[in-house]
Amino acid sequence: MLFKCPGNADIRTPTLKIKRCPKCGGDVELFSIDMKVDCPSCGQPVFNNINSCIDYCQYAEQCLGTETYQKLKKPATQAGED
Ligand SMILES: [Zn+2]
Repeated sequence: MLFKCPGNADIRTPTLKIKRCPKCGGDVELFSIDMKVDCPSCGQPVFNNINSCIDYCQYAEQCLGTETYQKLKKPATQAGED
């Protein structure tokens, strides 16, 4: 039986969420693994609050897989150095 971190449930099994655009108030659909989705109505970026243990769990990378882990650990940014 594999160990499963409950904190990653939303990432391991993506679920569709509806968020409200802060600009126009429209509904914005995004999956639980999406960091950001542009509002289809006005283009306003709507950020997703991913509730995960990535920030503190040392097993997150193994749990999620390197690709997903890196994607979530480092959101789209041009910064090359920490
Ligand atoms: Zn909008």
